[in-house]
Amino acid sequence: MYLCDVHTHSLISPDSEAPLTAMAEASVSAGLEELCVTDHCDLLDWEGRPDGSFDWTAAKEQYRAVKAAFDGRLALRLGLELGSAPFDPDKARAVIAGGGEELDFVLGSLHNWIGDQGNIDLYFSRFAGDMALCRKAMDNALSHAWALVARYPDCYDSLAHVLYPMRYIRRDGMDLPLTDYEEALRAIFTEVAKTGRALEVNTHHGLDMDDWPLLLRWFKECGGELITVGSDAHRPGDVAKGVPEALALIKAAGFDHIATFEKRRPVTHPL
Ligand SMILES: [Zn+2]
Ligand SMILES: [Zn+2]
Repeated sequence: MYLCDVHTHSLISPDSEAPLTAMAEASVSAGLEELCVTDHCDLLDWEGRPDGSFDWTAAKEQYRAVKAAFDGRLALRLGLELGSAPFDPDKARAVIAGGGEELDFVLGSLHNWIGDQGNIDLYFSRFAGDMALCRKAMDNALSHAWALVARYPDCYDSLAHVLYPMRYIRRDGMDLPLTDYEEALRAIFTEVAKTGRALEVNTHHGLDMDDWPLLLRWFKECGGELITVGSDAHRPGDVAKGVPEALALIKAAGFDHIATFEKRRPVTHPL
């Protein structure tokens, strides 16, 4: 089994303080063969203001130094977690272009409401006791996931944490049946498959594992082939958490390989 974690953060992200060298050290300790650092660039900030700043110079400097230091011990890739691309696709393309030749991988994310609730990060919404808001959040996120995969497939390589609103809906003691979103998710998955993009199994540090068997079944039935796996670690202690379990779930769902990306092209590894 090819142990890889291709959704991780370092101090280049506003919500992480981890030097990449510490994340790489943790990867070696966890037995990973490949690590991709995917620091945040969000086109909407936490409070919903247009943003899109990303320090490519600092990101590349850090990446080059750690890549050289771990040569022969760990395959290190340079990625980006690009949030809210459908909000401003031209800006998204400009940010990606800043990665140049060295950019291996782009995760397509949606952390914010778009066109509702002041465009704030879903983290700040309070879902307790408000089923209507829970449903609105899922509809908002899935409609923009659809926009990303159908209209701007050049703005991502793997669709990250497709159930992001559920993290906070459940945090607030609420829940929604996934089957209510089967039609929307199948449409998204079909488009991901058709365009040769990947679906991410995001373990959320090993906390979110239960939804994936059903989602993987739907993805497979929609023609999906490429899957990436990430822990979404923001500190060394969370690197690779849930990754071996995710690989086992992917295999059990009938997939025979896992994907990583180099220069934005998929590389498959047998499971
Ligand atoms: Zn994210
Ligand atoms: Zn992330």
